[in-house]
Amino acid sequence: MALPKIVLFYVFTPLADPEAVRLWQLTLARQCNVTGRIIVSEQGINATVGGDIRDVKAYVRGLREYEPFEHVDVKWSDGVGNDFPRLSVKVRPELVTFNAPDTITITADGVVGGGTHLSPREVNELVEQREDVVFFDGRNELEARIGRFRGAVVPQTGATRDFVAELDSGAYDHLKDRPVVTYCTGGIRCEVLSVLLRNRGFRDVYQLDGGIVRYGEAYGNEGLWDGSLYVFDRRMHVEFSPDARSLGRCAQCDEPTPRYVNCADPQCRRQFLCCESCTDSGARTRCPQCVPVPA
Ligand SMILES: [Zn+2]
Ligand SMILES: [Zn+2]
Repeated sequence: MALPKIVLFYVFTPLADPEAVRLWQLTLARQCNVTGRIIVSEQGINATVGGDIRDVKAYVRGLREYEPFEHVDVKWSDGVGNDFPRLSVKVRPELVTFNAPDTITITADGVVGGGTHLSPREVNELVEQREDVVFFDGRNELEARIGRFRGAVVPQTGATRDFVAELDSGAYDHLKDRPVVTYCTGGIRCEVLSVLLRNRGFRDVYQLDGGIVRYGEAYGNEGLWDGSLYVFDRRMHVEFSPDARSLGRCAQCDEPTPRYVNCADPQCRRQFLCCESCTDSGARTRCPQCVPVPA
């Protein structure tokens, strides 16, 4: 592969026949020789796709030929080659699984009733203007552990479907009158999360447009972001500058590390943080739940 690239994009738009769109996407992706994960639903499309730059460009051109996807905002990043072992194109009830498909309304203009979209620069301006701004992480706790916005609230979620119960627990009710900025990897989870927040009486809700990916492009580690960005492909994590220090800590030696590995116990396979040297030396192969960290 000459130059591996990865694209990340989503479009919230009503699709009357998601199965037809799925078949078209499957054909297009195969023709263009790209791999990755594409979700189609009555709510629109959500995808992460990788391949050689020429193939990915051909795929994006094909994607834009379909009118509802004409103005898709595509985020490009560098791959490492074979970033996705296979192609998966599926129809799902939701683009992101909050298990709340009926709580959001989609029009050709996108999601109705979400938070105000802010560009990376506008987020920084809001934080400068108002000292009570709070960042609200729209990802899973595992993702937030290795990198997050400074001072962010991190809900205790193992998966996106945990958000509704987490919000309904009342644990964040004290934030209802403060300016809340939600953020996630590429912005899609915030489209739904910000609706859930507003429906529960959060009054001043914003969402980071383009997600952490766009913020990192704009500010690297010079802004309000600290640490590594967790990604769902072979790279596992990306950093926005060579000197970025991960917020994750090795389960064995406590050194900063963004490296998740799977617990060697076949009954467990839980992801945990383990640095390269502790992995290489075999000092730790199983997670702290299976083998407690020595005091
Ligand atoms: Zn270590
Ligand atoms: Zn384990």
